[in-house]
Amino acid sequence: MGIKKSKFIKVVCPDCENVQVIFDHPSTVVKCLVCGRTLAEPTGGKGNIKAKIVEVLG
Ligand SMILES: [Zn+2]
Repeated sequence: MGIKKSKFIKVVCPDCENVQVIFDHPSTVVKCLVCGRTLAEPTGGKGNIKAKIVEVLG
């Protein structure tokens, strides 16, 4: 894995409670695969995570 700071995180969609694994440094908007709600937005660095993080996968 090296020493990269970026991680995969497991989040729960606040609208439909779908559990989804996403990248915490997204380059594009990440949407819930079930309901389409935005879960993370790119900021140029660490993403703006808009869902509840339940697990950090590293
Ligand atoms: Zn959803």
